[in-house]
Amino acid sequence: MNNCALTYQCPAARNFALGRWECPVPASPACNANCVGCISLQPDEEPIVSTQDRLSFKPSPEEIVEFTVPHLESAPYPIISFGQGCEGEPLLMWESIRDAIIEIRKHTKKGSININTNGSKPDAVEELCKAGLDSIRVSTNSARREIYMPYYRPNNYDFDDIIESLKVVNRYGGWTSINYFVFPGMTDSVAEYEALRQLIKSTGLKMIQWRNFNIDPDWYLGKIGATDTGECMGVKQLQELIKEEFPQLHYGYFNPPMERIKGQFDLDFAHH
Ligand code: SF4
Repeated sequence: MNNCALTYQCPAARNFALGRWECPVPASPACNANCVGCISLQPDEEPIVSTQDRLSFKPSPEEIVEFTVPHLESAPYPIISFGQGCEGEPLLMWESIRDAIIEIRKHTKKGSININTNGSKPDAVEELCKAGLDSIRVSTNSARREIYMPYYRPNNYDFDDIIESLKVVNRYGGWTSINYFVFPGMTDSVAEYEALRQLIKSTGLKMIQWRNFNIDPDWYLGKIGATDTGECMGVKQLQELIKEEFPQLHYGYFNPPMERIKGQFDLDFAHH
């Protein structure tokens, strides 16, 4: 915990230490993507270093249940989240996560069970929904394949798989968010706007978590081979246009607790 809360200053680890809100549950040492700006593993030949060291062990379902059940039982607005910045892709550990969810729900019905993921394995997502997963957050730098693929550099999945994962959770009545990396000059392009509209319509998306994309612009554009970013409208106008067309869509920065998933958005976090 010292390393997570004090060295990495991980907000979720600090919340867990304080017995409130979102508790992190990293589970996977491996990943099936090779993101240009990966925050847990950077190849030696790259000029940048990752902000965390990748998890080096596979927690068992029993170990996961041991600390998550007390958190769900006692924390205000409790969430447990698989898929943290210090690990690879949690869906590669879906059997352990499935078994943990089943065991957790034998002990408590409280709180939300969420997974932050690259969304690469919709079949695994379906098994987690059957086990009791409540919400999913799929990370992406774009709603367009041609911008997504050169950034994520997937080993064995395609952009369509991440869309399908959102559709699966929506079919099971779960909460769906995208962790949307905002890069002014590209995210607010007309082409991205049209693709984002399509993604929201086709998946029944519930929430966009607008995330600052902290990356060197020249390095990023060079890496994904983007030369002409096209006509842009400004991020503020993009957000307004999307909200106008999809008024039920929520904007935020954090995964919602069950209270919010059930529609209660005026929560008083300050006093809990
Ligand atoms: S999906 Fe996550 S862990 Fe995998 S390469 Fe991308 S940033 Fe790294």
